[in-house]
Amino acid sequence: MIAGARRQGLEALAMLGKVLRDEPMARHTTLGVGGPADWFFQPRDRDALARAMPLIPADMPRLPLGRGSNLLVLDGGFRGVVIDMAGLNVTRLTGNELYAEAGARMSRVASLCAAQGLSGLEFLATVPGNIGGGVAMNAGAFGQEIADCLQRVEVMDGEGRCMALERSSLAMGYRCTRLPEGALVVAACFRLQAMDAAKVRQRMRAMREQRGKRQPLSWPNCGSVFKNPPGDYAARLIEAAGLKGMRIGGARISERHANFIVNEGDATAADVLALIERAREAVWRQAGVRLETEVRIVGEKR
Ligand SMILES: Cc1cc2nc3c(=O)[nH]c(=O)nc-3n(C[C@H](O)[C@H](O)[C@H](O)COP(=O)(O)OP(=O)(O)OC[C@H]3O[C@@H](n4cnc5c(N)ncnc54)[C@H](O)[C@@H]3O)c2cc1C
Repeated sequence: MIAGARRQGLEALAMLGKVLRDEPMARHTTLGVGGPADWFFQPRDRDALARAMPLIPADMPRLPLGRGSNLLVLDGGFRGVVIDMAGLNVTRLTGNELYAEAGARMSRVASLCAAQGLSGLEFLATVPGNIGGGVAMNAGAFGQEIADCLQRVEVMDGEGRCMALERSSLAMGYRCTRLPEGALVVAACFRLQAMDAAKVRQRMRAMREQRGKRQPLSWPNCGSVFKNPPGDYAARLIEAAGLKGMRIGGARISERHANFIVNEGDATAADVLALIERAREAVWRQAGVRLETEVRIVGEKR
């Protein structure tokens, strides 16, 4: 596509939702760091997204965005278009089947299920992302994960075409889901179990309380930075390597939970990345374990 046509296509997105240029990603990640996205598009709804996809030049990188609660966007920003899925937020319960669009908040979905006496997704009350991000990450906690009650997802390709994929085709594992290259999750369907509503609510409350005690929730963060290696805990390994509380610039390895990095106010992505690298090296030296990041690192260094 020639330059003028590319720009025209991208500018036409404004009829289908919100379009921003050079949008700082620090505004869209829970860590509160990250440089600008060249283009930032928030479609109004699912139909608008389908109409928008063919307008985006095929060779332009696309980054689907939920609540940015598992994203570290580097300080140089993202050369492409960030697609914020927040406008796709329809949820529908039919018996014990739940349909939720990608932009629905997981905590809202948890409350909806609790109100109807449906069990299986209580842990979502403690995870600050959206359904699309939850599916892409196979989010989990307290012995539950998205894969447990997911039946199928609806994905959209780069041309705006949708298809349904059964869970069995997604190879879901510990914090990973194999989606087709470039596919956006637009909705997910779950099957839940009937349970006394008061009991579901009580389970959610207990999970929230535990979270509040163990995690540094008063500082901007991105949840667990590293995946737990088999048979061990990343937090234990980082603490054993003596890094709990370590600070670089405005970022710190939390005193409360060593697998959390918190932004103490003026952190840059480079500070967070430097702590990630420091923790990886120290754990490798001390314990011979290679930690793998759970947080997705995207964009360019400054
Ligand atoms: C305080 C705190 C606690 C947390 N606790 C947990 C926990 O207990 N368990 C857990 O698993 N995680 C936890 N997390 C991490 C995070 O909330 C989850 O990974 C969540 O699923 C990410 O959702 P999101 O909408 O914010 O996704 P984002 O961070 O926006 O995106 C994450 C990844 O998914 C991709 N993505 C997002 N939406 C879509 C879509 N519609 N289609 C295709 N790809 C998409 C993004 O491109 C990115 O690669 C926690 C985070 C915080 C800040």
